[in-house]
Amino acid sequence: RTAVVLFTRDLRVHDNPALAAACANAEQVVPLYVLDPALGKLSPNRTRFLHQALADLRKTLRALGGDLVIRMGDPVAEAIEVARSVGAEGIGMAADVSGYARRREDRLRRECERHRIALRLFPGLTVVDPGSLRPGGGGQSYRVFSPYFRVWRAAQWRDEVAAPSKITLPQGVAVGRLPSLPDGESPDAAEGGETEARKRFSTWLRHLEPYADLHDDMPADGTSRLSPYLRFGCLSPLELANAARENEPYVRQLCWRDFYYQVALAFPQISVKPMRPAADSSWRDDSDALQHWKDGLTGVPIVDAGMRQLQAEGWMHNRARLITAAFLTKHLGIDWRPGVQWFFRWLLDGDVPNNSGNWQWVAGTGNDTRPYRRFNPIRQAERFDPSGVYVRRYVPELKGIEGVAVHQPWRLPADVRRGLDYPGPLESHRDEAVWLRP
Ligand code: FAD
Repeated sequence: RTAVVLFTRDLRVHDNPALAAACANAEQVVPLYVLDPALGKLSPNRTRFLHQALADLRKTLRALGGDLVIRMGDPVAEAIEVARSVGAEGIGMAADVSGYARRREDRLRRECERHRIALRLFPGLTVVDPGSLRPGGGGQSYRVFSPYFRVWRAAQWRDEVAAPSKITLPQGVAVGRLPSLPDGESPDAAEGGETEARKRFSTWLRHLEPYADLHDDMPADGTSRLSPYLRFGCLSPLELANAARENEPYVRQLCWRDFYYQVALAFPQISVKPMRPAADSSWRDDSDALQHWKDGLTGVPIVDAGMRQLQAEGWMHNRARLITAAFLTKHLGIDWRPGVQWFFRWLLDGDVPNNSGNWQWVAGTGNDTRPYRRFNPIRQAERFDPSGVYVRRYVPELKGIEGVAVHQPWRLPADVRRGLDYPGPLESHRDEAVWLRP
């Protein structure tokens, strides 16, 4: 018996249910990845990370006696072609939630039926299957986090599956070349791949304990930074959740990820349509202000630091994501959708459910139970970057300003201000912005 495993966002051998099932049920297994040109253009950072992850997966599979077969083109056509060429009885893959992924799944299902190939979908992208927990009253998905967290925590999680010990490829399969590593855009981006993910995972478990105290401390950088590895499935979210199970605050964050997957499953247009249309009315068109925000030149140091971290690392601290997104929508009054797109271009962890779900939460069009909440960036900065270390790390123009004063350069003495090559703050269009008054 021969099976094809179509890898997508589960680029690992540990706790990979689709791969484990193929290895348990078939003598010969073809691990396949199809580079889809439609996805390659979305984000140079993620494309580079993906290629690193594929090279690493290939190395691991080779060490197990197999290989990673690489094709380029339409994943459905290529998977069918490979399956037919080796006489495979079945194709296995991880089920996904985005609109794009579901259309791909539907097309693959139809083609498999046409060619009498069995298609099996497996869990693996989340801790708990999206769609498996349903609220009472017939709703399709949970719209509020806390009740979801309660049932998610109490639910029976699936068992982890072991990495295969050996893989046998059918004779004569052309394995295909992995194109040379493409350039990313961020000089300090993390490196992709399961090997790197597992190193960071075991280091993280030793640093997990103070998470509750440190996860909002911007200069401490005390979060796991595992999100890009979860995004590409270089690390199993279930394995991470099991290992961290006793640390409630951390597991709760992992649940937010699952939460947005089940939201996106029920609301596939999450990137473009507001979940609460009434809250999505009067955004301003201001391409200049939008550009300043993108460039990290708003004149509000905590905002600029976050936006520059995004470009430097392809990642941003969660607190900075909240502050910068609130600044765009609630201070500048600009639509959340260009914000979604800008983050989506740069973030290594950028994915539709989490990016759009969080943006809608901040903009007040989504799942926030307090949609009119205000984020005063100065209060946030003073609380979560009290000595200004985070700002000075990412905004070199302000390196010489010591302590908390760095958060409000407009309050510095005029002669100091004149010496700074740094803009004054952009005007507010929504908040009263009392914090801006000198
Ligand atoms: P940790 O603090 O170590 O948390 C562990 C894991 O929990 C994360 O890796 C992540 O998978 C999950 N998690 C934590 N917070 C959230 C959250 N609020 N929502 C969903 N999952 C969460 N996360 C993404 O994975 N992809 C995105 O595209 C994304 N876009 C965002 C956009 C905005 C405007 C905001 C406010 C948040 C966004 N987040 C996104 C959520 C969060 O900021 C990141 O998951 C987190 O900063 C990743 O860093 P970490 O791995 O060190 O997190």
